[in-house]
Formats: sequence, C-alpha cells, structure tokens
Amino acid sequence: MALVIDCVAIGDEIMKEIVQETEALKAKGITPGIATLLVGDDFGARMYRGQVEKFCQEAGFNYINENPPADVTEEEVINIVKKLNEDPAVSGILPLRPFPSHISDSAVINSIDVNKDIDCFHPFNMGKLALGEPTFPPATPSAVIEILERYAREVEKVDPKDFFEGAEIVVVGHSNIVGKPTAFLALNRNATTTVTHVFTSMKGNLVKHTAGADILIVAAGKPDLIGPDHVKEGAIVVDVGINRVKVLDADGNPVLNEKGKPKTKTVGDVSFDAVKDKTKAITPVPGGVGSVTNRMLMKNALKACKIQHGLL
Ligand code: NAP
Repeated sequence: MALVIDCVAIGDEIMKEIVQETEALKAKGITPGIATLLVGDDFGARMYRGQVEKFCQEAGFNYINENPPADVTEEEVINIVKKLNEDPAVSGILPLRPFPSHISDSAVINSIDVNKDIDCFHPFNMGKLALGEPTFPPATPSAVIEILERYAREVEKVDPKDFFEGAEIVVVGHSNIVGKPTAFLALNRNATTTVTHVFTSMKGNLVKHTAGADILIVAAGKPDLIGPDHVKEGAIVVDVGINRVKVLDADGNPVLNEKGKPKTKTVGDVSFDAVKDKTKAITPVPGGVGSVTNRMLMKNALKACKIQHGLL
C-alpha cells in the first residue's frame, strides 16, 4: 500500500520551526522581512503576493508590498529594487512575474542584491547552485528535496545522504525555476540524475527513463502525463504539477456548477489514482509540494537575514 506523503503536515512542521527561529532572532532585536515586487496586477502574481503576505504575518516577519502600476518604467522598477537592497527591514526580495512586456526580467533580477535573492533568480546564485556551493536554493525545488529528506529520515529511517547517493532520480521538466534547479539539487546529493523534457516525449523516450526511476519528480504542467506504465513498482513519486481541469462525469461530459459553468478541480501531472498503488510513496495534488514551497522561501529569508546580521 502506497504512502501518501502528508505534505501539509510537513509544511506545518516547517512553519513551527520558522516561528521558533524568528522568535529567537526577535529576542536579539532582529526581525526578518520579505518584500514582494508586483508590477501591475497580473492575477496569478496577485494571488501569490497575498499568500506571501499571509505567511509573513503568521511567522512574525516584516512584509513590504511594492506594487507600481503596469505603465511604470523599467528604470523606476530598478530604483525600487535598489531601495529594497538598502532597506535593513528587508531580508529578501521576491519579484513576482510576469512583468509587463516593456520590463526586462533579467534587468530587474540582475539588480537584486545577491544576498537578498531568496528564490535564486539571480544568475550568480544559479551559478553557485550549479557548482554545489551554499546559496538560496529556489523554493519549489528545495520543497521537493525537503519532502524527500524528511521522508527518508522519518519513514525509511535512513540518513538522507544515503537515501540520495546513487539513487536513480528522473526529473520531468527542465524549466529554469523548477526542473533544472531540482536536477542540480539532486546531482549535488550524488544521485544519478536524468533530466527529461518535451523533446524526450516527442522522441517517444519518456517512459524509457521514468520507468527506471527510484525517485520520479514530475514538473511539466501536463495533467495525466504520467500513468502507471511510466512508474517502476515501488518508486517514490513527487508530483510538482499544478493544473486546473474540468470535472467530468462517467460519460466524459463536463459537470456543471450552479451557474451552469464547467466545474474545475486542481490536479498534478501524475494520474494519481492509477499510479498510487504502484508506488512506495507519492505526493498528492492538491496538498502536495505547494504546501511546502512558501515555507522554503521563508527559510531562505531567515538565512538571508542571518547573513545580513553576521550570524551566518
Ligand atoms: P514550465 O516553465 O512550463 O516548464 C514545464 C517543463 O515541462 C518544460 O521543461 C517542458 O519542456 C516540460 N514538458 C512539457 N510537456 C512535456 C511533456 N509532454 N513531456 C515531458 N516534458 C514536458 O513550468 P514550470 O514553471 O517548470 O512548472 C511546472 C509545473 O509545476 C506547472 O504545473 C506549475 O504550475 C507547477 N509548479 C508548482 C509549484 C509548487 O509549489 N507545487 C511551483 C511552481 C510550479 P520544454 O521546455 O522542452 O518544452
């Protein structure tokens, strides 16, 4: 019987640890803080901003909301970043994308102080990640690793070092924010790491790789990409994908809500019900990796705060 990893409980546990550390810092007169930078009013970015504010309140962090209008110039946005770089109340800066098209992502990101780059966007920190040097590992990939490390310690009762070393890890997806950094984190732990992507699928080779994985990490944003044939018996599956899909009835027709619109639900990239019993352990969606991601961002903010106060 597969273990469905309780990522919500893991997220709650990490939050308790963060609150304790924050209290210890506050006792020294130091308060960690996160500034978000949202340009304009993109819906997804606004939702994320609200979550960050809520988590900052829960943890006792400072929270700074920078939200210039969509027609702001790139220079003005960079000046906001420079101000945040200098602000001692700000431990970490989180640019919330997408930016309007006239503002270059890289111009903004490259202006962030590398010691305040808590989601590892800056090429300097990505470079350190690739070299296996201490940095701020990006939130979602480090949530994946944190879940696996806690699973290793608490369920398999093994040292995470032994758990990762030589493990066959296959990552599906090679985006700069999830797939690639996840692969670096796995490689830095001496896992035998394979990265697959859309071209692997186009050549019909996806199953060849995923079916050999001891640990399969899926971050493609494609519902039902991974079915039972893609998974080795007894594998551990971490589903990073978040997709909104229509709820269908037994005949495959959309189920309508009270307003006559199709009902939707959130699913991952893995066909959870079909795959679950083949695995040793699996993360669900919703209630999976996403429950840990924001916590890892806050852990990075704590780390940044300690670096800035000479405590690390
Ligand atoms: P992305 O930038 O769209 O990247 C998706 C990756 O999947 C790309 O590398 C793409 O390959 C690959 N891919 C697409 N179709 C594929 C296929 N049929 N077979 C194999 N690989 C395929 O997305 P992302 O930002 O990395 O996010 C991935 C998923 O994770 C999304 O569902 C997102 O919502 C979710 N997510 C979750 C969290 C969380 O906290 N749980 C956080 C961030 C993102 P190519 O580049 O070659 O096209």
